Amino acid sequence: MKPEIKNLTLPELEAALKELGEPKFRAKQVYTWLHRGVGDFSEMTNLSLSLREKLSERWLLTCPVPVRKLISESDGTIKYLWRLWDGNCVETVLMRYHHGNTVCISSEVGCPMGCAFCASTIGGLVRRLSAGEMLDEVVFTQKDSGLEISNIVLMGIGEPLDNYDSVLRFLELVNSPEGVNIGMRHISLSTCGVVPRVLELAQRGLQLTLSVSLHAPDDETRSRIMPVNRRWNVETLLDACCAYFQATGRRISFEYAMIRNVNDTEDAARLLIRRLHGLPAHVNLIPLNHVEESPLEPSDRQTVRRFQQQLEQAGIPCTVRRTLGSDIDASCGQLRRKYRVEHNA
Ligand code: SAH
Repeated sequence: MKPEIKNLTLPELEAALKELGEPKFRAKQVYTWLHRGVGDFSEMTNLSLSLREKLSERWLLTCPVPVRKLISESDGTIKYLWRLWDGNCVETVLMRYHHGNTVCISSEVGCPMGCAFCASTIGGLVRRLSAGEMLDEVVFTQKDSGLEISNIVLMGIGEPLDNYDSVLRFLELVNSPEGVNIGMRHISLSTCGVVPRVLELAQRGLQLTLSVSLHAPDDETRSRIMPVNRRWNVETLLDACCAYFQATGRRISFEYAMIRNVNDTEDAARLLIRRLHGLPAHVNLIPLNHVEESPLEPSDRQTVRRFQQQLEQAGIPCTVRRTLGSDIDASCGQLRRKYRVEHNA
């Protein structure tokens, strides 16, 4: 297998091309092509034919193919199911907000974490994505839609902190001024709570937003719906969140999927308030998206509203996430799941 050229940072590409006897500016030309989403080395028309051949002998240039593209009639959300070079599929969602276009990308094919409410984890982890493949999700979504992307959320299929090295490399790529140039403050990374990695990330001091999928304030409930909690419990996770805040100065965003009679009671809200005391946080309530394979049901609107008010009255900023693209199965892993069922894969 040839290495993927899009995994390389600009300085690495410069070093590699130097070995081929090419001047430094050549690397920048190649890098620009890559980050603009060329489908093949032959499209790099400002390079000599012999250099294009040398590049393709040495490196793999990945180019995902959209096997499904769904556009929501109600809000313009676009969902892509991409087929990767090895036949595996991942999803990317483009959401259109007033403050700009946000792309939600996958970090793995499948997911090893086993959360009870999530479609992405059915079937487990198939493989991790490379940094270049994550970059492809951004670049090809931008290219195909013709819409400029200003924000990235790592909230698609997979657990980003289970693919830590590639995710960090992806952040470097996507952040580079010669590429799509998206600032760290415009990037959110969501985790189910892989505590050692949260602590490592804190040490990097990056300005990205850490989103933590909390979903329950007590260990009994959380361990039931999120197996990761049996390894690192709520207290350990919240301690890591404090450390993240102290190292970066960034407020933590907590995701909380409202599940009927599981985590939506007044007692649960009270405990959540107590646990978040003193930690600069923002809570995002997400009405659960029902997944066919799961018995869990969403809370009703009134319950969500009451929960939100309880948090707000305690001084915790709390929003109910608008569901975008629900007419196109836009939430995590549903499209890939459906496609696999239909194709018996
Ligand atoms: N593995 C990471 C990234 C996934 S992000 C994480 O767990 O954070 C996707 C977000 O959607 C997570 O907060 C996840 O818990 C949530 N989610 C998954 N399935 C859901 C569903 N059926 N309804 C509502 N939220 C869901």
